[in-house]
Amino acid sequence: HLWQHDLYPRRDAGRIGSPMKYISTRGQAPSLNFEEVLLTGLAADGGLYVPETIPQMSAADIKALRGLSYEETAFRVMRPFIGDTFTDDEFREIIAKAYASFGHDARAPLVQLGPNHFLLELFHGPTLAFKDFAMQLIGQLFQAALGRSGERVTIVGATSGDTGSAAIEAFKGLDAVDVFILYPHGRVSEVQRRQMTTPAESNVHALAMDGHFDDCQARLKDMFNDFDFRDGVRLAGVNSINWARVLAQVVYYFSSAVSLGAPDRAVSFSVPTGNFGDIFAGYIAKQMGLPIDRLVVATNQNDILHRCLTTGDYTTSEVHPSISPSMDIQVSSNFERALFYAYGQDGNAVGQLMDELKQGGFRVSQGALQALSEHFDSGRVSEAETSATITEMQARTGEILCPHSAIGARVGDQHQTGATPMITLATAHPAKFPDAVEAATGYRPGLPNRMADLYERSERVTRVNNDLSALKALVRDRITR
Ligand SMILES: *Cc1c(COP(=O)(O)O)cnc(C)c1O
Repeated sequence: HLWQHDLYPRRDAGRIGSPMKYISTRGQAPSLNFEEVLLTGLAADGGLYVPETIPQMSAADIKALRGLSYEETAFRVMRPFIGDTFTDDEFREIIAKAYASFGHDARAPLVQLGPNHFLLELFHGPTLAFKDFAMQLIGQLFQAALGRSGERVTIVGATSGDTGSAAIEAFKGLDAVDVFILYPHGRVSEVQRRQMTTPAESNVHALAMDGHFDDCQARLKDMFNDFDFRDGVRLAGVNSINWARVLAQVVYYFSSAVSLGAPDRAVSFSVPTGNFGDIFAGYIAKQMGLPIDRLVVATNQNDILHRCLTTGDYTTSEVHPSISPSMDIQVSSNFERALFYAYGQDGNAVGQLMDELKQGGFRVSQGALQALSEHFDSGRVSEAETSATITEMQARTGEILCPHSAIGARVGDQHQTGATPMITLATAHPAKFPDAVEAATGYRPGLPNRMADLYERSERVTRVNNDLSALKALVRDRITR
C-alpha cells in the first residue's frame, strides 16, 4: 500500500499559461499543470504537489448537487482542478468509464449504523476497496493523456496487497501502459493475490518476489533511481502521493454530505487512516466550501498520527503488523500536505521537518498543532477493540465490517456529538479480510456475485528473485513497444 520514489520530474515541466497551477509542499520545485502533476507525482524537491489556490464551491453550487448521479457530482467537483488538460466532454467520458465497473449504481452508498451515525460504503469497486475510486480514474486519465500524445509508459509498483490489485484492475487492457506489480511471495492474502494474478490481459505482469514488502519497495526505488533504465522504459508511478488520487477521493465527501443535507447541515467524518490520503481529501472538500465540522483520524495500534495530533510528537517507531494491514504504516506520506497548510504554506518549514524525519522524527510547532486541531480529531483502536467492534456492530446493526472500517466506526461513535451526523468511511469489503471477520463473528463473508468465480480463475504470475538486474531485464523484455 505504500509506494514511494516511483515518480520523476518531467523534463518539460513548468509550462506557462495554464489556468490551474500546482505547487510543491517544499517550495523549491517548478509549478506544474494538472497533466504534468498526474504523470509526474513527486516534485523535484521531494515535496508533494498541491493546488496553488483551492477552487471554491458556493452554497448554491453545493445545493445544485442534490439528486445528481455520482458521475455528474464527480464532474462538477473535480472540473476546476483539471484546468485545460481535458475538455468537458473528454472529462465526462473519462469519469463514465472509470466508474462503469462498480457493482452499485450509487457508487458510494450510505447505510445507517446508529441514530446519527452513517457508513459510507466505498468498497463496491472491482477490487473491493476504496482505492478503486482513485485508481480507476487514474487509469482513464493516463490513457486519455497518453493516447493523444502517442506515448507509452511503464508503471511499476510494489504492494503489500490492496494498491497493487487496484492498479492492475485499473490499467489492465489499456494500450498506452504496461503495468508490473511486485508483491512479496506468500505474504499477501489469497483474495489479494488472485486479484493480481487472474487478469488475462497481456499488459499485466504480476511478479511474486522472494522477500518482504520492504524488499519489493527497495527494488522499486532502485529502478527509479537508475535514470537510464527509468527513461529507457519511461517509468511512471501511481502511488498514494499522486495528486490525482487525492482529488478523486474528494468527490465522495461531497456526495455523502449532500445526501445528508449539506450545505444546510454540517457533517463530520471518521476515516480509517494510514497514509493520510483519504482523510486529506476531506480536508480539501472542506477548504472548497463543504460544511464539514470534524475530520476524525482513526488509527490502529500503529498510531503515529494519533500521537502527533494529540501531542505534536511525530517520532517513527517499528511497524507492528495488525488485523488491519492496510493501515500498518510508519511514515504517513500524505501528512506532509496537511503540515504544509498547518504551517501557513511555508515550504521551507515543511522541508526542514522532512529533513528531521530522516533522523527519526520531528515536533510540530504549537501554532501548527493549533491549526491542525481546528479540523482534525483522532482516536486509536487496539487489536482487541477492533475485533470486538466487528462483533458488536453485527449484533447492533447487522452490518459486517472489515477491520479497517470497524476502527473507523468505533472512533466515529466516540466522536459523534449533538445533531451533527457522523459519516464513517468503510474502506474495504469484509470479504477482503475474511479471517479477521470470521474470528470476530463466526461468519466467513463471501465475495459479491460478480466476482464469485475468483477462486476458479486461472492464475498467471512470474516468480522473481530479489535481484535488481534480473528485474530490469524482465521489464525491458516484457514491455510492448
Ligand atoms: C489504503 C487503505 C486505508 C488507508 O488509506 P490512506 O489513504 O492511506 O489513509 C484504509 N483502509 C483500507 C482498506 C485501505 O486499503
